[in-house]
Amino acid sequence: MEKIYPTEESRPHYICIDKACRVLRTAIANGSWNRWKKTTRFIVDSYHYINHHTLDYLCCKWCNPGPLNGSAPNLVNVAYDKNNRPYFQHAFNTQACEQLNSWLGGFESILK
Ligand SMILES: [Zn+2]
Repeated sequence: MEKIYPTEESRPHYICIDKACRVLRTAIANGSWNRWKKTTRFIVDSYHYINHHTLDYLCCKWCNPGPLNGSAPNLVNVAYDKNNRPYFQHAFNTQACEQLNSWLGGFESILK
């Protein structure tokens, strides 16, 4: 990721990775998280989160793709059901992001 985003200015606020909680653990262990935490959060795919967040505190606390505590309002939309009751929904489709990331990863390996 540091090859793709070499400077702080080039880094996105969120990077959606299927196993972002594992990437985060690795980044903490090897010290690179000290550079990334200033700019970027790693979030997991929504299906991964449903299956993993009850088992893994780090995944739950830091990799939630749609936190409802106000910590990432741009990841959560308020929508209204047919009875006009508000509910929260994910502001973007993490499944599609994950597919795009793996597609870009494949594309990058072709270029090398
Ligand atoms: Zn996880």
